[in-house]
Amino acid sequence: MKCPICEKGNLEKQEIKEYMFGVYLGKFSAEVCTNCNESFTDSETTKKIEESAKKEGIWGLGLTTKITKAGNSSVIRIPKKIVKYLKLKEGKEVYIHPDGNKIIIESS
Ligand SMILES: [Zn+2]
Repeated sequence: MKCPICEKGNLEKQEIKEYMFGVYLGKFSAEVCTNCNESFTDSETTKKIEESAKKEGIWGLGLTTKITKAGNSSVIRIPKKIVKYLKLKEGKEVYIHPDGNKIIIESS
């Protein structure tokens, strides 16, 4: 079967290590493209990955938020779910820096 993304490689059955937000979710069987390395999972496996993410408490932690202005700075609201997951407390110092088009906020 040809890869639907690059349309060059073939899909081969492989065991893949699945990560979400840097958390290891386990090994799952997937079809992996020999050219672009894109992996595809069937609906049953996708459900298993979802269940594993829920068990780890990270399901639904990818959220959109808006940038607002406060004086000369911009304010990004961190959704409550993420605050709870990372146990962020008011007044805590975090380290913020760009990474390509991402903003990395590191809490220690
Ligand atoms: Zn491909």
